[in-house]
Amino acid sequence: MTQKKCPHCKVIKDESAYYTKVGKNIGIGYYCKDCRKEIDRISYNRRLQERTEKRLQKLYKVSYWVYKKLYQAQEGKCAICDRESVSCLPYDTEGRALVCNDCKNFLNKTRDAKYMKRYKAYLKLSKTVSDA
Ligand SMILES: [Zn+2]
Ligand SMILES: [Zn+2]
Repeated sequence: MTQKKCPHCKVIKDESAYYTKVGKNIGIGYYCKDCRKEIDRISYNRRLQERTEKRLQKLYKVSYWVYKKLYQAQEGKCAICDRESVSCLPYDTEGRALVCNDCKNFLNKTRDAKYMKRYKAYLKLSKTVSDA
């Protein structure tokens, strides 16, 4: 059984702890499976963050930092319907509240007093977050 030291976790592991590479560079992976997964996860998250960052800047002129703060303050929930939604987007151009796509569409179409009241109350609350 071949053993190899993973350059990431610095642990000597059996060949089976590495992914098998096929094709031109046949052999075993550079990093062990555990590290590979971890590295992939980090780079996936980074890419996701970069994409979100660009989208936020382009559509709402909001920095990822503000978005994150709002997201945490709202616990990932829509400011209006409280539904948990990862696709929460800033509703207003100042990005003071995150709402789900449904509410965003709804707000774009209507100025329903009940909805607007809730939204405005939320704005006050989240303003303290974005100003802090
Ligand atoms: Zn490793
Ligand atoms: Zn909603």
